[in-house]
Amino acid sequence: MPPRVALTPGRPLQPDPWPPLSRPPPPGTAGKRAPAERLAGAHRLVVVSNRVAMGDPAGKSAGGLAVGILAALKRSGGIWFGWSGEVSDAPPAAAEIAQNDEITYATLDLARTDYEQYYNGFANRVLWPLFHYRPGLVEYQRADFAGYQRVNRQFAAHLAPLLRPHDLIWVHDYHLMPLADELRRRGVRQPIGFFLHTPFPPAELFRILPCHAELMRAMCAYDLVGFQTGGDIAGFRDYLLRWAGAQPDGAESLTACGRRQRLAAFPIGIDVEAIAGQSRQSAVARQMRRLQESLRQRQLIIGVDRLDYSKGLPQRFKAFERVLELFPEVRGQVTLMQIAPPTRSEVPEYTQIRRILETAAGHINGRFAEFDWMPLRYLNKSFNHRTLCGFLRAARVGLVTPLRDGMNLVAKEYVAAQDPEDPGALVLSCFAGAAEELGDALLVNPFDADGVAEAIHEALVMPREERVARWQSMMAVLRRNDIAAWRESFVAALAAAARAR
Ligand code: UDP
Repeated sequence: MPPRVALTPGRPLQPDPWPPLSRPPPPGTAGKRAPAERLAGAHRLVVVSNRVAMGDPAGKSAGGLAVGILAALKRSGGIWFGWSGEVSDAPPAAAEIAQNDEITYATLDLARTDYEQYYNGFANRVLWPLFHYRPGLVEYQRADFAGYQRVNRQFAAHLAPLLRPHDLIWVHDYHLMPLADELRRRGVRQPIGFFLHTPFPPAELFRILPCHAELMRAMCAYDLVGFQTGGDIAGFRDYLLRWAGAQPDGAESLTACGRRQRLAAFPIGIDVEAIAGQSRQSAVARQMRRLQESLRQRQLIIGVDRLDYSKGLPQRFKAFERVLELFPEVRGQVTLMQIAPPTRSEVPEYTQIRRILETAAGHINGRFAEFDWMPLRYLNKSFNHRTLCGFLRAARVGLVTPLRDGMNLVAKEYVAAQDPEDPGALVLSCFAGAAEELGDALLVNPFDADGVAEAIHEALVMPREERVARWQSMMAVLRRNDIAAWRESFVAALAAAARAR
């Protein structure tokens, strides 16, 4: 854990704790890939997200957002501002500052009420289900929305004094939609971009939100709004044009609330070579030997998902059951290992899905298991990234079947982790953002259990030549749109949007 230092907000920072982004390149690196700071001029990157993940994601379990931001900041350096993950009795007096290599972490604790209303309430019981096309799970309360606005105001109040004139501010995800508006109210004029890691729903679905107008008015304060896919842009743009009086201004821009804004897709990528390297290394690790011994030559099907209703796990278990029914010859020959670390356990829907899956797993194993074979291994725990990459490489089939997902990094990691000589096959939901890039996966509709079962079977029997051809084509896309390309294209677009303004 890096050392933590308390800072008083508003006081000039002496000595300046932020390393300049435009430092000279280390000896021997001149002429290599342009870092983001040079792409965007001499700007310093300030990243803001709900949760700041201190440390190295390779050694821990982290969500897709944290993995993406850390990989992005590691290359360019900069500040990462957000919630520390700690809940305290009173609102925070000051941000805490810690330095770790290239990244300066500035974190705030959340007061208990803020945590309940902003995080558990409005973010996770309203925006998350709505943005994943599940209006039936939305539980809106005005007090929660007020808490959400209050925390955004607090973030802005603590962040504003830390900013410098040439900063580029990059805000992440649905927790912080009003942040730019709050910063502008405090006189912040620097370029501010927003990236939504989740899907954005169609305009008619978004209008279910009683505070839709207020939220979207606040969104107009961003210079650039980035999405995972074109479908997400369509919902957002449609809303602004139809319900917020926005005027189109070219194919990718519009003017809303008197401000010009660019909307564009920046599908998040992965660090392809790092994942490939980790998976090669962990192929010889002790856990891998244990896994291989326990499989006894059986083919492994793997699923890795946070325990979240958007991931379609009950439907996936059903589809696996259909595989065992429709293709009895695979009984005794395959094992599905589902890794599902619990999250957000204070939200009732998450406890509920856990119970549903325990019952479903018990049902499948009870129905099909033999004295020497268990079809389904269901693990409610997380693994570090390195071990996970080894598991992904060992699996003949990667099963990624969310009902709706912004991107789904596990789908990309599965591909990058494969052995180039004998890669496995990916079965991928057409409702994951990753499906737009990974057209050479076996694309399925997760609501169609028989269709998913047939695709799993096809993946199990797919000849090596076909697996290699599909893998090579998917790897070419992943290399082109890797995590560095994601960061560089967003930062460059933000700098350009600000210049245009
Ligand atoms: N992950 C991990 N350990 C686990 C489970 C997941 O390190 O036990 C990582 C996984 O490798 C991926 C991220 O967490 O990088 C999940 O990202 P994804 O986009 O698939 O889903 P999200 O959780 O963000 O909805």
